[in-house]
Amino acid sequence: MWLRAAARAAGAGAGAGAGGSRSASGAAAAQLRRRLEGELEGIRGAGTWKSERVIASPQGPHLRLAGGGGAGILNFCANNYLGLSSHPQVIRAAVRALEEFGAGLSSVRFICGTQSIHKDLEEKIARFHQREDAILYASCFDANAGIFEALLTPEDAVLSDELNHASIIDGIRLCKANKYRYKHMDMQDLEAKLQDAQKHRLRLVATDGAFSMDGDIAPLREICQLAQKYDALVFIDECHATGFLGPNGRGTDELLGVMDKVTIINSTLGKALGGAAGGYTTGPKPLIDLLRQRSRPYLFSNSLPPAVVGCASKALDLLMESNAIAQSMAAKTQRFRSKMTAAGFTISGKDHPICPVMLGDARLAAVMAEDMLSRGIYVIGFSYPVVPKGKARIRVQISAVHSDEDIDRCVEAFTEVGRKHGALP
Ligand code: PLP
Repeated sequence: MWLRAAARAAGAGAGAGAGGSRSASGAAAAQLRRRLEGELEGIRGAGTWKSERVIASPQGPHLRLAGGGGAGILNFCANNYLGLSSHPQVIRAAVRALEEFGAGLSSVRFICGTQSIHKDLEEKIARFHQREDAILYASCFDANAGIFEALLTPEDAVLSDELNHASIIDGIRLCKANKYRYKHMDMQDLEAKLQDAQKHRLRLVATDGAFSMDGDIAPLREICQLAQKYDALVFIDECHATGFLGPNGRGTDELLGVMDKVTIINSTLGKALGGAAGGYTTGPKPLIDLLRQRSRPYLFSNSLPPAVVGCASKALDLLMESNAIAQSMAAKTQRFRSKMTAAGFTISGKDHPICPVMLGDARLAAVMAEDMLSRGIYVIGFSYPVVPKGKARIRVQISAVHSDEDIDRCVEAFTEVGRKHGALP
């Protein structure tokens, strides 16, 4: 009955366009449209327009693009570091969770949105990172948006690396603490800022564990030493580290031997850990308890869907059983980095599966990325304002599910395309 009424109402509405879309009329709407079109034109004119390629297959090393792109595109630009996004056991776990626990909770966690699988996953995350407790969010963006405001007051200080991820920057903007921005990975500058911040009650140093544009890893040992010296806490965002950095894939803190010195970890379930979605904070129990009471993206947003919880939970099981997948990814990364360097390219960072091929010129990066695609290799060029002027690059991301042949094909294509466009002699 209500369906028929809804259909009648939809059909009767004024302003429906030929294709069924509607647009409001009136001077304000027209003014808004003009302003938006002008802004969009500005983005196009600046050459910073981001277009989206449509993929017609699951995420993986080999993709099919929609619209006649054909099969067999080799994909080197996903954060699918461990290849778990389409792992059969991860998919089966999602289907089982969907069948057993439903499509979703239609609720935030504290009203009626917590199921046993949410508690199990939080316990598993805390165990994986060897922390006291963990709290789930719809994304790591939300985890970063929610933590600083809940934890820090105007009496406190936060010291943030200037190249931290946008979500850390936004999260810090939302809090009322005193803000310090230190130069990228510059320990002298951090020390100077820590000295100045001694006047505040609490100091929190916030850094990405691994930086996604350069594939470089934060000097956590030095950061933790300074934190100890100046009585500060350390927060790391481990989105590009969880699951694969360190001997057991625990992350940057494990890699650099400071697991007991980092107080708070935020990370994502949307990259190496199955790739579906979701984020979390893990750390001391009273902090997690406080976030459940005060963190706005947790309090005012829907619970993670069961299928998504199922994916992440299975991904963690696989990683806790064995680190063979992470080791395989590390070997492929090494293969790509050494072959590309031997071919004459400069690869930024060290040992990380994010392998930025440094080209300098923005046009060169864009043209080479297009030419790579025409040879069946999907990579993306980054230029200003995403990276500094004159530091354009093509970012290549290696996955455990790339074969040695995939890596070699990519290097060969880069070599040909690099020679053609003058990036190599
Ligand atoms: N932090 C870093 C360093 C990231 O790279 C990203 C994703 O791009 C995020 C946070 C946000 O993660 P999510 O996709 O789970 O919101």
